[in-house]
Amino acid sequence: MVKELARPAPSLRRGTAPEHAWAFLDGELVPIRDARISVMTHAFNYGTGVFEGIRAYWNAQDEQLYGLHLKEHYARLHRSCRIMRIALPHTIDELVGITVDLLRKCGYREDAYIRPIAYKSSPLIGVRLHDLEDGFTVFAIPFGTYLDIDRGISCAVSSWRRTDDNAIPARSKITGAYVNAALAKTEAAEAGFDEAIVLNQDGHVSEGSAENLFIVRDGVLVTPPGSDNILEGIVRASILQIAADEKIPTLVRQIDRTELYIADEAFLCGTGTQINFITKIDNRPLGEGTLGPITERIRRIYFEAVRGKVARYRGWVTPVYTGSRT
Ligand code: PMP
Repeated sequence: MVKELARPAPSLRRGTAPEHAWAFLDGELVPIRDARISVMTHAFNYGTGVFEGIRAYWNAQDEQLYGLHLKEHYARLHRSCRIMRIALPHTIDELVGITVDLLRKCGYREDAYIRPIAYKSSPLIGVRLHDLEDGFTVFAIPFGTYLDIDRGISCAVSSWRRTDDNAIPARSKITGAYVNAALAKTEAAEAGFDEAIVLNQDGHVSEGSAENLFIVRDGVLVTPPGSDNILEGIVRASILQIAADEKIPTLVRQIDRTELYIADEAFLCGTGTQINFITKIDNRPLGEGTLGPITERIRRIYFEAVRGKVARYRGWVTPVYTGSRT
């Protein structure tokens, strides 16, 4: 008799796949329980994969699921592959098509998270990037809010530094590199903070454990440049676009650690976290310790745009279902 497995606690179930989830693996859609790879897979042994995290937002009024910035994510996946010498056998448009087919197959009528991974697939011992086979998979799971976005978060500057471009390039979204993010996140969580802010090897502010960072000083929105070992985030680019359209002054420049302590506002942003305002950094309250006016303005527009509700940003989203009212 097969022993019934106890259902994991809700906190452990978060981010897991439901029974009816599907995956795209080796060129076909399969039920996620059948999407398996060997324990000898190179990427499993050495972290030689690159990935994306993409969201799709359910719009109940339109009865439509909108994939957010699908092309931009797959363009970044292609760039990550170039750095890591992974051959991706699909164009950006094909990858968008595969993702839409996958979401339709899953049939989600709620927010979802999509995870494509391109990886060194050879079942082989030997550390290198050359002379290996490459694989590609993508799966999608239901996914609500990742951190409580209305509460605001406390952050600590991490004792872990972001990996340097000449060690493990942060610009490429490499699976193995997320050990660095995990070390920072767990250190922060176990010290009682919600998130970590990591500095780069020079001691300048880089980003959150797996989010980009913005601060506001004297009405100017400031974020570190790509050359400060950040992932060149897609939400970050969207926020810079909103700020430009709203005539909010922005600066992309290096940020010192102590600027975090004197900022009027600060927030972390990314596909998973969305836009999360920071109330305290290293136990120093930021501004009023509440949601600041510039963050509030940007957040309001962003959360409408991702559900296809802002005409100006309609190009950000791809409707998944056909035959709907949109
Ligand atoms: N930095 C890191 C290290 C990340 O993992 C992420 C999440 N992908 C981000 C920033 C935010 O990137 P995006 O806005 O493209 O999700």
